[in-house]
Amino acid sequence: MRTGYNVAIDGPAGAGKSTIARRIAKKMNFIYVDTGAMYRAMALYLLRKGVAPTDAGRIADACGEADISIEYRDGEQVVLLNGENVNAYLRTEEVGSMASYSSAVPEVREKLVELQRKLAEKADVVMDGRDIGTVVLPDANVKVYLTASASTRAKRRYLELLEKGETPNLSQIEQKIMERDYQDMHREHSPLCQAEDAVLVDSSDMTIDEVVERITSLCR
Ligand code: C5P
Repeated sequence: MRTGYNVAIDGPAGAGKSTIARRIAKKMNFIYVDTGAMYRAMALYLLRKGVAPTDAGRIADACGEADISIEYRDGEQVVLLNGENVNAYLRTEEVGSMASYSSAVPEVREKLVELQRKLAEKADVVMDGRDIGTVVLPDANVKVYLTASASTRAKRRYLELLEKGETPNLSQIEQKIMERDYQDMHREHSPLCQAEDAVLVDSSDMTIDEVVERITSLCR
């Protein structure tokens, strides 16, 4: 039985889900659950074991050996993979790309969806991902589909990398974003799509504050 207040935010890579969800959680004193980080932790486990991204059979077998759990330290989500804090290894292109393949395997999804539902049962959460409003929390109190044009998302990522002192290539970034969108939207199991009862928020021409205000007003 669900007892927590649940806010579900879905959308494509780079739409700003994690920034927005984190801000809303802080404002409302809810817990922020980053489900992408769980899929990334599973991907890290598979990469470390040398499993090929396209070997769905081995991914299905191996995912049973990975114990993934989350904890909160100083308000930040910490992902534990067989007891090890793996946060520092999750945000690489290699892990993101593997996650996009391994998250299409039903055994991986079953395992992580169960963990996500348990978290939302006991607490007030803002959860972001690809299938939160459609599959994980179909009864969420508020559902948002947060998106932005591919070129806007690429530009944001480009500026982020520039700020880090890297020398990114804008058209390559946009290409990668479109590939990831295609993969996430066209997989057989739990593809990324807007839930029928989700509110569409296009952040292309909105500031972070405007998006946060729009979503918190939906919760009131
Ligand atoms: O959001 P993030 O980029 O961290 O997610 C990494 C990958 O994990 C996504 O490209 C997607 O394939 C997968 N994912 C998913 N379902 C979720 C969250 C992430 O399939 N709820």
